[in-house]
Amino acid sequence: MIRAVLTDIEGTTSSISFVKEVLFPYAAKEMLSFLQKNWANDNVAKQITAISAESGTNVGTPEQANDILQRWITADKKATALKALQGMIWKAGYEDGSYRAHMYPDVAHQLATWREQGLILYVYSSGSIAAQKLFFRYSEAGDLTPLFSDYFDTTFGGKREEESYRRIAHNIGFPEDEILFLSDIKEELDAAKSAGMQTTLLDRQHSPSSSTARPSPHAPHPSVNSFSDIKLHSV
Ligand SMILES: [Mg+2]
Repeated sequence: MIRAVLTDIEGTTSSISFVKEVLFPYAAKEMLSFLQKNWANDNVAKQITAISAESGTNVGTPEQANDILQRWITADKKATALKALQGMIWKAGYEDGSYRAHMYPDVAHQLATWREQGLILYVYSSGSIAAQKLFFRYSEAGDLTPLFSDYFDTTFGGKREEESYRRIAHNIGFPEDEILFLSDIKEELDAAKSAGMQTTLLDRQHSPSSSTARPSPHAPHPSVNSFSDIKLHSV
């Protein structure tokens, strides 16, 4: 019997394009003005020190910092300082209503229904836990954070590693086979299944051709187009 649902975000509850086409461009566009406004902020100053060290430049102005950061963004450099600043800009953007996190229309209703049925809901995403909370707090469907009991990120391990799902199950406190993991990525579902969890693949790209879970080319995982098609007793 399934007692908990653990869900991925990108490609599962929400479109992949929101992060790529809204969040990242917003941070790039707002970077300079954010640095100018918050240059004296302690947490910003800490990131500037890190940027100076990593770039080998003594960064003294918001403009200099922005030049380096824009190059890093273009090069898709995985720098902690860049990630931290992007996180601060995204938070400000959510709070001032510049955007809301995309949510597929079936998600909020189904999550609420599961909660009413007594299931406990969790998130597992590669985004930081702080970013996950902002995402669900400022979603198109309103504040969904009251529905979730906890959030897991890659500090619990990679999403394609079996051990991560064992760690999460242990943390949740239910046996693996009482947890249903939802994702759009077969390799993540494979890892969860190897750990003993139940799985369902969200196939958001295909138009609904069937109203119920069906055997899929992603076997052994049942595949659905929508959260409303997930049948807990049949997974
Ligand atoms: Mg995903």
